[in-house]
Amino acid sequence: MNESTVDMRDIHKRFGAVEVLRGVDFQVRRGEVAALLGPSGSGKSTLLRVLNHLERAERGRVSIDGELMGYHRSGSRLHELKEKDILRQRRKVGFVFQNFNLFPHLTVLDNVVEAPLAARLGSKAELREVARTLLSRVGLADKIQAYPGQLSGGQQQRVAIARALAQRPKVLLLDEPTSALDPELVDEVLDVIKDLARAGTTMVVVTHEIEFAREVADTIIFMDGGVIIEQGPPSEILDHPQHFRTRAFLSKAPLSPPHSKE
Ligand code: ADP
Ligand code: MG
Repeated sequence: MNESTVDMRDIHKRFGAVEVLRGVDFQVRRGEVAALLGPSGSGKSTLLRVLNHLERAERGRVSIDGELMGYHRSGSRLHELKEKDILRQRRKVGFVFQNFNLFPHLTVLDNVVEAPLAARLGSKAELREVARTLLSRVGLADKIQAYPGQLSGGQQQRVAIARALAQRPKVLLLDEPTSALDPELVDEVLDVIKDLARAGTTMVVVTHEIEFAREVADTIIFMDGGVIIEQGPPSEILDHPQHFRTRAFLSKAPLSPPHSKE
């Protein structure tokens, strides 16, 4: 039995003449958190987009929870799935974007209910109940009737996390979830992600918050130039990086969190 929820093998992805991912392999086991670090342009966002088949790789394959993403096998051949099957698969992968991407014309509650309702994951009443539970889990029980424009960035990002969880994904991908936030709002979002990690949510999080990565991640993956330069437990990669590029990257990152709590 393969216990990896995320299994990415030999992924190559190019945009025009530029090969952005040059043979990426990694696995995330169920209940574990991988933190993806690396300089801007190293391919981190592209990697997440390949994971949920928003981008198609030219070579390699991705399996989520044992299911090949984007293709079905018949004999030795792979055939591309139909759009509706790709959408069904994509629900296994929750995505949280840097800029929240909430629907501005829907209330907080309806933002969370909309996608699972469209996917018929339950009745409207059931899904509203699930949404309320998720919104209280991210500390927003009192905001369910607000509109995104009435919320702070940190609150909006917590809605986005609840919305992603409402689809009952097998893995949650977060692409720099705190980069668009004012510094004083970063911790409230990181705390929610830490809670999810403690509760056993499988996640891949791209972050520049090194101390957060140390605390939350089982595995740190350091990328540069479209390849994984090194990966391992935080104590290894953050305290004893083997590669000079990892050392150079970490030496530029703040050593302690700039907004740690007292
Ligand atoms: P990161 O998230 O690590 O900053 P990205 O995955 O966003 O890196 O980008 C990696 C490289 O791929 C960059 O050089 C970027 O300009 C390029 N790239 C990303 N998306 C596209 C696209 N849709 N078309 C062309 N080039 C792209
Ligand atoms: Mg990016």
